[in-house]
Amino acid sequence: MKVFVIDQKYCNGCYGCQIACKDEHCGNDWMPYQKPQPELGHFWMKLQETTHGQVPRVKLEYRPYMCQQCDKCPLVEQWPDIVTKRDDGLVCIDPVKAEGKKELVDACPYGVVYWNEELSIAQKCDGCAHLVDAGEVPHCVDLCPTNAIRFGDEEDFKDEIAKATRIDMGTESRVYYLNAPGLFIGGGAWNSDDDEVIIGAKVTLTMPDGTTKTTETDDFGDFWFRGLESGTYDVAIEAAGYASVDKKGINLAKSLNIGDFDMAKA
Ligand code: SF4
Ligand code: SF4
Ligand code: SF4
Repeated sequence: MKVFVIDQKYCNGCYGCQIACKDEHCGNDWMPYQKPQPELGHFWMKLQETTHGQVPRVKLEYRPYMCQQCDKCPLVEQWPDIVTKRDDGLVCIDPVKAEGKKELVDACPYGVVYWNEELSIAQKCDGCAHLVDAGEVPHCVDLCPTNAIRFGDEEDFKDEIAKATRIDMGTESRVYYLNAPGLFIGGGAWNSDDDEVIIGAKVTLTMPDGTTKTTETDDFGDFWFRGLESGTYDVAIEAAGYASVDKKGINLAKSLNIGDFDMAKA
């Protein structure tokens, strides 16, 4: 069974995968697998860009997003004659039988099925099944310059899968994401009398379960705690010669810049 493994740490947002999908499918008829993808309006591969945090502490996240080749695809369950789960795990829409079946578009909870108005068919990423059957890899995998998207046999990716996350909508997706950035809390320490940032201050984060993590402010007086989950956190900042600062009850639902803390001289 095949899987996609996408390491977000290596994705630089170049859009190569999105362009690769267009290159492979626009104007190309891969029948009996796929009819051509329209040039406009369809993103069988979509690079999602999310800005986390608030200026000036922001981080950009890039996530390649396409059909998740789910083991429990509701389209397969509802229209088994039209949408099939192949033995290798790829989910394919029959381009002939899908004619006039606009209802397929709304049945996918991930929003990755598109309606081709001109041909009157529902279409989506099929993992480039025509290439896979020819012993090749999907075109987006082939063209990714950083090897951020990989494709292959599930057992060959055992170690990566153990550390990965999936976009979980209860459908048992076969697309695994590594190094998804999670949420962050960022802030800074400075002293207004000297108008200077405080470097090397000890910053302690108390997690929702009561455990703690520590870091130090960097050369810009900034601190970052990354890879967090939503919940309520406390932050304490200590530096020799300055009065400590506490910020309690930080409600983290999205990444937060909690601001710059003016630490008075002790
Ligand atoms: S081609 Fe690779 S590096 Fe470029 S956006 Fe896609 S996944 Fe990221
Ligand atoms: S992403 Fe949507 S269309 Fe693709 S397999 Fe999952 S449920 Fe089916
Ligand atoms: S596997 Fe093929 S169809 Fe799917 S996103 Fe990549 S290039 Fe497009």
